[in-house]
Amino acid sequence: MKCLAIVWAGLCLAGALEAAPEFRVGAARSDITPPAGWRKAGSYDEAISTGVADPLYAKALVFEQGAQRAALVVCDLTGSSRPVCDRARAEVEKLIGIPATNISISATHTHGSPEFHGVLWDIWRQQAIARDGRDASAPFDYQAFLAERIVAAITNAWAARTAVRLETALPDQPGVAFNRRFHMKDGTVRFNPGKQNPDIVRPAGPTDTALPIVLFRDTRSGNPLATLSSFAMHVATFYDAAKFGADFPGVLQSELQRDFGDRFISVFGEGCAGDVNHIDVSSGDPQAGNTEPQRIGTILAATVRDALRNPHKESEPSLGIRSAMVPAPILELFPGQVERARAVLANLISSRPAFMLQVEAYRILNIELLRQRHGDTLPMEVQAFRLGRDTAFVTLPHEVFVELGLAIRTNSPFAHTQVITIANDVDWYVPTLKASAEGSYEVTTSAVRPGAGERLVEAALRLLRELKAESRTGE
Ligand SMILES: [Zn+2]
Repeated sequence: MKCLAIVWAGLCLAGALEAAPEFRVGAARSDITPPAGWRKAGSYDEAISTGVADPLYAKALVFEQGAQRAALVVCDLTGSSRPVCDRARAEVEKLIGIPATNISISATHTHGSPEFHGVLWDIWRQQAIARDGRDASAPFDYQAFLAERIVAAITNAWAARTAVRLETALPDQPGVAFNRRFHMKDGTVRFNPGKQNPDIVRPAGPTDTALPIVLFRDTRSGNPLATLSSFAMHVATFYDAAKFGADFPGVLQSELQRDFGDRFISVFGEGCAGDVNHIDVSSGDPQAGNTEPQRIGTILAATVRDALRNPHKESEPSLGIRSAMVPAPILELFPGQVERARAVLANLISSRPAFMLQVEAYRILNIELLRQRHGDTLPMEVQAFRLGRDTAFVTLPHEVFVELGLAIRTNSPFAHTQVITIANDVDWYVPTLKASAEGSYEVTTSAVRPGAGERLVEAALRLLRELKAESRTGE
């Protein structure tokens, strides 16, 4: 009898080890809208906001299974500030024990965002202080405020976490996104050459029309809690230069709330959209105006809604996180470059410098900033999150070209892989080696030597393969 009891206890223990711990998810959001009058981002020229078209949020998803913990935040901002992200990640690790390396904080890239960091911010702020004795367009420390709000979104999501089932869908969304770089008749490659430009020969790259969605459904109530979705198209359709707004991800949020209730949270990440936007150059129809976010958000919401009618049910939810730092050599600076760049961006060289002169100046000051922070080599962070046997997402820093995102998504060992960009660091472009040789706007912003994008792809695929192997062996 005693022997039988021992055998029985052993069987129970084996059974307990085999059952996967509950997979829990929490979602929450914090308002990060600054007051009207704050300086706006999204342009190389200074602009002051006059109001709010719709509120901006930091939206958080937290994940927990057994001892594994992770968090993803996407903010309605143009770019991510590395110091703000570092500060928020360290604070969350201290408060609730999610390791900083398992937290990714990105931006949707909405151009209806406040300016609050980076080289343009520094210049405009210094000019205001020199002129007025204070910076009236920035009456409080937005970086500290943002870090607090990101931490609040994560801790609120953590408090609300509950057991979930995962449903996924991978619909195609044609007709919305267009590669914005073109081979021209004169042999050059140009970005945004204009609608019906007769000198266009053909696009210089592809698009990625996949609109991947993960739905988190409360296991007990059956209610949908949140979605994570992403699409490889610039979130820059918001044309009201004077107002804050979340652009089409804000419309997607309100459309899905109509279906799933006011507490539902749509976390949308910008996919690899460095060379992709919403402008169809083959058509002469105007695409500037405040109706573009509504038009695009409504189309995406219809696709999401339709795809979720018949989703794939993730049979083995399983949380795993891997991250890596890809070393990218920072470009060199030459004597006099920094002073000239500062003068160009401060509008001291002419009243309105040519656009590419501004872009080149922006790159030079970014190189200076990165060299001050990191020396010769920029560590570029890649994070990979496994949510289940078939489901994963990757986050990358900066604005990554679509070819690189496609290489990750289509070579990933997970059938459903999302790639989300502008994570944990400021916004400049990561072109392909091919595009680096072709030049034009995006290439001129890059502060690191060509080839960094291809190394991000290698690192992301290595991490995804490790996570896949780990899920097969049951960790
Ligand atoms: Zn951009």
